[in-house]
Amino acid sequence: MPPERRLLLVGAGHAHLHLLRHASRLDAAGYRTTLVAPARFDYSGAASGIAAGHRDPAEGLIDVAALARRHRVDHRQGVVTDVDPLTRTATVDDGSRLAWDVVSFNIGSVVDVPPVLGSADTVVEVKPLSGLARLRERLEVAPTGRGHHVTVVGGGASGLELAAHLAARADTDRVHLVEQGPRVGDFLPQRAARRLVSLLEARGVRIVTDAGPVRSEADTLVVRDGTRLPHDILVVATGLAPPPLARRSPLGGPRGFPVRASLQHRDHDDVYATGDCADFLPSPLPRLGVHGVRQGPVLLAALEARASGAPAPVYRPQRRVLSILDLGGGTALAVRGRWWWLGPSSLALKSRIDRRWLSTYRG
Ligand SMILES: Cc1cc2nc3c(=O)[nH]c(=O)nc-3n(C[C@H](O)[C@H](O)[C@H](O)COP(=O)(O)OP(=O)(O)OC[C@H]3O[C@@H](n4cnc5c(N)ncnc54)[C@H](O)[C@@H]3O)c2cc1C
Repeated sequence: MPPERRLLLVGAGHAHLHLLRHASRLDAAGYRTTLVAPARFDYSGAASGIAAGHRDPAEGLIDVAALARRHRVDHRQGVVTDVDPLTRTATVDDGSRLAWDVVSFNIGSVVDVPPVLGSADTVVEVKPLSGLARLRERLEVAPTGRGHHVTVVGGGASGLELAAHLAARADTDRVHLVEQGPRVGDFLPQRAARRLVSLLEARGVRIVTDAGPVRSEADTLVVRDGTRLPHDILVVATGLAPPPLARRSPLGGPRGFPVRASLQHRDHDDVYATGDCADFLPSPLPRLGVHGVRQGPVLLAALEARASGAPAPVYRPQRRVLSILDLGGGTALAVRGRWWWLGPSSLALKSRIDRRWLSTYRG
């Protein structure tokens, strides 16, 4: 029998969900695995539809506590608030401390909120997804005598998805999409971006570009040229950033936990990080669930390899990944490199992929 090592998994993001499902392989490699994570995982592929009230919240939910139980992993419900690489311990939000021989982080991302947007009650950030649930709650109560007025800040993937979904609601009177750059959907092939803009405009979304927010008052966003955009709800989708633990802890860095191609920390062989919280040093990766998903098997193989003394495997990101924006109203935009398709068949493909992935983690 190999000597037992304490493996601490922090966060139940995509890669760690894979580890939980294959926990028997970690046992066989000599690890005693402990997971610190909230009891539920919210799947981002379903997040916009759920937040806008078009899909049932249960559709995107994975019961992490049940998954850990099924695979006999010790699960401590909570979040890690601090880490100390010298004593190799992590502090949990209930005050307890956990020691590790090997630690792996998969704690996702938060929204990079411009300070000018403040934190009024009307402001909803798109990440973490537990916070985005507030959008659904707020939409349940319409203002008296009229529909909702919503402003979405940020013309990237999540801002576009949410603006499209919100505009597809019958009880929304006005949706503004505010982008600081000259156009929305800059990451899309140009014709796909134009097609998406037409769809948004046909649904009544008013797109305001070159308009970085200058300040937010209780119910009004003031943009660069002084225009005042009143709202009941302000959705902040200004890009994803590593959570504070991945930025400010002794293991963190400005773009997250810095990791090599082996997913090991730049300076510590016994520390791993995957997904949005990792700064993949060989090439910066966009913050997409697909990288977390694909890093799962590499991380599992890496942990097995370190136990057996085999060479560490490396993560090789695909050059082009399929990404599908769910736009509500029964349609979606699929993009892979320069190829794209907007229509119901893209949504059918997305639903198939999502259902298959989610079903692997449900009982
Ligand atoms: C509205 C929206 C829609 C999106 N749609 C898509 C999409 O369709 N496809 C796509 O590929 N990407 C999408 N993304 C991006 C996607 O959310 C992220 O890239 C992806 O979730 C990152 O996966 P991850 O495994 O790194 O972490 P996550 O999926 O974020 O999981 C991290 C987990 O760690 C937990 N956690 C956080 N902090 C701690 C802590 N300190 N201690 C313990 N646990 C912690 C969290 O509760 C969470 O469950 C979307 C993002 C948004 C905001």
